[in-house]
Amino acid sequence: MFQASDSKYLSDNQWYMPYNELLTAFNWEIIGYSSEERPILNTTLGTGSRSICMWAGMHGNETTGIFMLLSLIDLHTRNKIDLSDYSIHIIPIINPDAYVRFTRRNGLSIDLNRDFRAFQTIESAKLIGWIKMNSPELCFNLHDQRSIFHLHNEPAYTSFLVPSSNESRAITPVRRALMNRVGNALSSLQVPLNGIGRYSDKFYPTAVGDYLMAKGIPNVLFESGVSVDDFERMKARLFGLNVMVALLNADDTPSVVYDELPQNKEGLLEWVFTGVLYARMRVDVAIKRVYYVNGHAQGMYYMVDELGDLASRPRMKETDGSVIALSAPLIIGQPITAVLGPVVFENGLIVG
Ligand SMILES: [Zn+2]
Repeated sequence: MFQASDSKYLSDNQWYMPYNELLTAFNWEIIGYSSEERPILNTTLGTGSRSICMWAGMHGNETTGIFMLLSLIDLHTRNKIDLSDYSIHIIPIINPDAYVRFTRRNGLSIDLNRDFRAFQTIESAKLIGWIKMNSPELCFNLHDQRSIFHLHNEPAYTSFLVPSSNESRAITPVRRALMNRVGNALSSLQVPLNGIGRYSDKFYPTAVGDYLMAKGIPNVLFESGVSVDDFERMKARLFGLNVMVALLNADDTPSVVYDELPQNKEGLLEWVFTGVLYARMRVDVAIKRVYYVNGHAQGMYYMVDELGDLASRPRMKETDGSVIALSAPLIIGQPITAVLGPVVFENGLIVG
């Protein structure tokens, strides 16, 4: 297995690279332009007969997969990995307009991952054309998942999905073979799989993975998540890279390892202050981190996530709030300004 120290893209906890920096990071080929005419980049690793397609950045605020791909390119460039059997086609960011804004939707406010039936955006049409041209035996569709997802009350730091190809979620032969291959890849790593889950296989007819599956093109979705004290998703980044490499080499002999991964559950809170005195009530106050990119500025702040009786919700971190009294109303979705016991927040930042 690769370690974080094997590549700067695995060890540096930078979670966002400005697009102009990415443009010069490798010797990319430009295969098209976004609706706002930003270049869509591509590179191919190896010249072998087995074709693989990998892409990230379909949602511009999900960056972990980009660093996984940069790591793979970096390891290949420095001859630390043998990919000679493969031609690995990589698009590091398929939605550059969303990436520069750090938003989910493209420059015209369309969610690309809901456009794979109509193909009206330049970016989704480009991606499908590129995939079909490369006739891949397997596609990797790299996304990030929200911190609400958990497995047995622990953050889901990586979840996988072998998508459905129809409304009935039938296990088609193509889907079964890929489930086996994912299972064999996970087994080959010989690491504990707690924190690893399965993403919902509800059929989304307009999502790329479901569309490809319906066309018989095998693809696996990676959803990289946070773990406790790791909001930059460094753990998911390293694990994801190792799974990607393991998947290349795995076969599809029967395996139930994928099937036995727990299903993602929703509702995990990040940080809860319990029993806070608030407008003559005793409430739980949940806050969460928000990462942002604004022009050249990047940062993180805490926002008010939820207020009320949160006793039934799992949480990553808890602070007893019974000695805390709040004097001003809190607004959900806003950066928090409050003295929460020993922690002083001002406009979402901890100042004391
Ligand atoms: Zn996504």
